[in-house]
Amino acid sequence: MSGSDNIRRIVIDRKIKLAQWGHLVRWAANNNYNTLVIPLEYLLRLTKKKTARLLKIADSEKMAVEAGGWELSRFIPRHLYFFRRELFRMDFGRRKLKFNFCPTNPKTIEYLKKGVFRLLGKIAARFDSGRILPVFHLWPDRSKENVWCSCPACRAFTPAEQNLIAVNSAADALAEICPQAKVSWLDLSENAAQNPPAAGIQPRHNAFAVKPAPLCLSETVYKPGR
Ligand SMILES: [Zn+2]
Repeated sequence: MSGSDNIRRIVIDRKIKLAQWGHLVRWAANNNYNTLVIPLEYLLRLTKKKTARLLKIADSEKMAVEAGGWELSRFIPRHLYFFRRELFRMDFGRRKLKFNFCPTNPKTIEYLKKGVFRLLGKIAARFDSGRILPVFHLWPDRSKENVWCSCPACRAFTPAEQNLIAVNSAADALAEICPQAKVSWLDLSENAAQNPPAAGIQPRHNAFAVKPAPLCLSETVYKPGR
């Protein structure tokens, strides 16, 4: 439940069916993973009963369960683009619908926090079995992790800093509703020339870095029944 080295995380693809979980969890255990990261949407779709079943299956292989993934930008719903364009990422002077958002706009942060209260609050309550400490991974859009905003206010920050500004706001909101929960941010600084670290921004006490991004377990990696 931190960034420590003995945690081996694998992200579950949202298309994996609940019926496959028995095989999946054994596959993950046999491949030395000990922590499953389940997309928020996946968890939101499950009933309370199905969540309990999923946690029981994970428990049978002593597999920890965490939530999230490349999901930070889901808190800024794309339909807002048509009337709140300023929430979105600027690129060469124009706001873009796709990839991440403008994290220095206070309105963006308002939406982000509202989403955390609503979505993460709901999921944290499901995990509230006393056994699991809620951990939420809030990473920027996959393979576009460095595509952030170049508006006049954001320009002062590197993409990694912009990312951390957003994650810190989510961490603040989460601390209000679930003080024992943690959020992770994706640290892409291994190639410092291309990805300068978020040196100017300190992560919150309830935020920790994940580095590098875990593998995503999809049908192409995991073969059902094997
Ligand atoms: Zn901006």
